This record gives sequence, C-alpha cells and structure tokens, in this order.
Amino acid sequence: MTFRRDLVTLLSVQPRSVSSIAREMGLDRRDVEDDLRHAIRSARASGHEVVIEPARCRQCGFVFGEDKLSKPGKCPVCRGTRLFEAQIRIE
Ligand SMILES: [Zn+2]
Repeated sequence: MTFRRDLVTLLSVQPRSVSSIAREMGLDRRDVEDDLRHAIRSARASGHEVVIEPARCRQCGFVFGEDKLSKPGKCPVCRGTRLFEAQIRIE
C-alpha cells in the first residue's frame, strides 16, 4: 500500500507521533495507528531499525509499553493526563 510506504519515508526523516501523522495526512488517528503497526512490522522484516520512544507521563515519569503507539488517555500510576506521545523513527 502506498500510504504505508509514505509512512516509512516520513518516519525516516524525523521521529513522529501518531497524532502528528494523522494531522498532516488528514486521517483518523486510529487508522494511522493500524497502518503504522503494519509499516513498523514490514520495515523491521526488511531489515530497517525501528526506534520507538514510548509514551511517557510528564508528571511522574511513568513509561508506557512500546505497543502503546497512540496517545494514552491517562497515566495508570498518577492518573495524570499530561502525557508525551510515543515517537516513532525508522533508520
Ligand atoms: Zn504519571
């Protein structure tokens, strides 16, 4: 799919979050997340290094799992809602 190839190109320029890609492409965040998972998998399968800087809580520093690509609603530890979104980069 062309869009997935575009995603790989986009992510090899600089680290991006699901929201920023969705905004730039005018797409739903959920759709972007789905395609992003596929793009990451196929990029890894074809030998690219995919670096995921996981989402993080601004308040207590809690780090979410790498599978949490879209912006989490709330921190499970301190219940804070000020969160950094995961940033994805492809080498
Ligand atoms: Zn927290």
